[in-house]
Amino acid sequence: MKIKLHWQILIAFALSVLFGAFLKDYVYLVSWMGTIFLRALRMVIVPLILTSIISGIVNVGTGENLGRLGLKTLSYYIVTSLLAIVTGLFFVNLIKPGVGSELGLSDKVSGLEMATDSFGDTLINIIPTNIFDAFSKGGMLSIIFFAIIFGFFITKVNSKSRVFLTDFFQSSFDVMMKITMFIIRFTPLGVFGIVAKVVSEQADIISLFERMGLYMLAVILALIVHAGISLPLLLKFVGKVNPLKHLKAVTTPLLTAFSTSSSSATLPLTMTAVEENDGVSNKITSFTLPLGATINMDGTALYELVAAMFIAQAYGIELTYYQQFIGVFTALLASIGAAGIPMAGFVMISIVLSALGLPLEGVGLILAVDRILDMFRTSVNVWSDSCGAVIIAKSEGEKLNV
Ligand code: ASP
Repeated sequence: MKIKLHWQILIAFALSVLFGAFLKDYVYLVSWMGTIFLRALRMVIVPLILTSIISGIVNVGTGENLGRLGLKTLSYYIVTSLLAIVTGLFFVNLIKPGVGSELGLSDKVSGLEMATDSFGDTLINIIPTNIFDAFSKGGMLSIIFFAIIFGFFITKVNSKSRVFLTDFFQSSFDVMMKITMFIIRFTPLGVFGIVAKVVSEQADIISLFERMGLYMLAVILALIVHAGISLPLLLKFVGKVNPLKHLKAVTTPLLTAFSTSSSSATLPLTMTAVEENDGVSNKITSFTLPLGATINMDGTALYELVAAMFIAQAYGIELTYYQQFIGVFTALLASIGAAGIPMAGFVMISIVLSALGLPLEGVGLILAVDRILDMFRTSVNVWSDSCGAVIIAKSEGEKLNV
């Protein structure tokens, strides 16, 4: 019998805790697995974002989609993602899962450069002077900026080049997804290496667990408030739709999202449910849902910010309001850039960390519980996509069953 990935991760987690606690002196025998795993994940970030954004933009930019419908859809995506991020920000500041943790990490960050540019400078610096420099240094905002521009202008060239480039970037994206999924299969080994090392360096393992528990609580509570209060309010007051009826209509895709942790894999079920149960036209679903599955990720956006704040807290780094604001902005971009596959949100956290000048090694801290949180945030991603389709259909004057 094949054990599902999240169970494998849980088992690896439990074993690695025992290993780190009782075989401290032998941790070097396994810690390399974590290092290799994180390096492999970092390897795919730049090409994954680049191809994901370019192919996404090309799909939006063609046809008559960019008119009123496009504008409405994008506004919904941005507003709900921001709402989600702010909810996450509230909870992580309220619960403060990482503050005061004696994780022994703060001494490692001396000499780290914090992001101290003014907002104006940050915006100006998004335009790279040399794209290869941005690629090699992992200047994510610049890479995203370039990808958007490049994708947009692919739609403006003659049809021979357009078809070629569209196919080229779509195919490259497919390959990058396959590579990422391949790497992700090794998560249990990565978790084993990383967690064993983190645990072996802890004086107080109980405190570590307490912190991780609080961190998960902050993410899950914020997700529940966003999915259970904010989005239903939008459904009720903007869409004039009964939230409970809509929830019933999309239960199957939500459960699928929860068990697969992939918005893309869930997409066919989301489309069927929204069309057949909610009664939304194919014209709206075929535009909003595929787009939503790749760029509208409320759960992921929220998670990006909470995770980055947790890492900052655990390293004893106090973020100013201004830095938190930059965090909100980059979490939004990171969620747009994340592909609809398991752990894509985790891969993207480096964007937020590098924009805030936080140590990239921090991701090792949250890896162990990422896969569990992924199930929750993916369901919220799909829930928000489905709410968007319904609200937009209503605003276009469609008669629905909900
Ligand atoms: N797994 C998520 C999704 O497919 C993306 C993420 O990792 O946050 O929607």
